[in-house]
Amino acid sequence: MALTFPFAAIVGQDDMTLAIQVVAVDPTIGGVLVLGDRGTGKSTAVRALADLLPPIEVVSGCAYRCDPKRPAGLCTRCDGGAKSRKPPTESRPVAVVDLPLGATEDRVVGALDLEKALAQGIKEFAPGLLAQAHRGFLYIDEVNLLDDHLVDLLIDVAASGENLVEREGLSLRHPARFVLVGSGNPEEGELRPQLLDRFGLAVQVRTPQELALRVEVVRRRDAFERDPEAFRAQWQDANLALQQRIVKARKRLAAVQVSDELLTLCARLCQQLGTDGLRAELTLLRATRALAALQGHREVKPEHLRTMAPLALRHRLRRNPLDDADAGVRVERSLQEVLAA
Ligand SMILES: [Zn+2]
Repeated sequence: MALTFPFAAIVGQDDMTLAIQVVAVDPTIGGVLVLGDRGTGKSTAVRALADLLPPIEVVSGCAYRCDPKRPAGLCTRCDGGAKSRKPPTESRPVAVVDLPLGATEDRVVGALDLEKALAQGIKEFAPGLLAQAHRGFLYIDEVNLLDDHLVDLLIDVAASGENLVEREGLSLRHPARFVLVGSGNPEEGELRPQLLDRFGLAVQVRTPQELALRVEVVRRRDAFERDPEAFRAQWQDANLALQQRIVKARKRLAAVQVSDELLTLCARLCQQLGTDGLRAELTLLRATRALAALQGHREVKPEHLRTMAPLALRHRLRRNPLDDADAGVRVERSLQEVLAA
């Protein structure tokens, strides 16, 4: 298997690397939508982060990566076993699963294992991409070009955290909670609002414009491709430090305080921007809390709101016929007003 570029060595994609660390601390924030130029290392960053995260404990032999610590959300197979006993567990790396645009529904949700059925006469279910992505990342390049029926399916599964399959005389249920990472260029096709809503954060990635930064990006990429093992060894300590930071932040998360003042700031900001529903505020709250936890704070501060608001809100703004400013500019403007008040 090809070696992964070390997360700590990624430069010039600050919003992207921040967003995926924040959702790694609290996956309930939802997915990350990556907008922008081709060839800016979007999938590299996701793979690098998954590679950095500590392995997960799963029920031994379970193809659905069931979490032994969540007995309420087990697959049909694990649920049918002796519930009172502690199931044996094994460690597996955090998965990054690619969902190609042309994928069939069978491939995504799983289907009857035809080979087994024909060769051995056994009716068994072959897990799909949703099962493989459980507790990891599901990556969709050009998500705005995804077929409508797959979009519907993803919206359902992302909302319920469960994949329910009933077909070919088989009935099966398994957990499917993953961080959806979608890349796309909105100019090449609009995203449906329901799917857009599933992305907690959105980031814009661009080819770095600063010369020194471009040079550094190329220098590191070249060093990695010439000798991946040596390059990884060189970055191992920095990577480990980042891993520890995320692990500690996950533990700290529940204890991070959010004051009424801060919640009011979030509400005022969303009100001013006219975001639909309360999901924007909820996402903003979770994202600021995860960032505070990452930075080792015990309380969410306005500076956390300042950092996360553009990422959490930009993609939720409706077009305003009276204001043709870019969504990012509108968020900035409202932030300044709300924080100055
Ligand atoms: Zn299971």
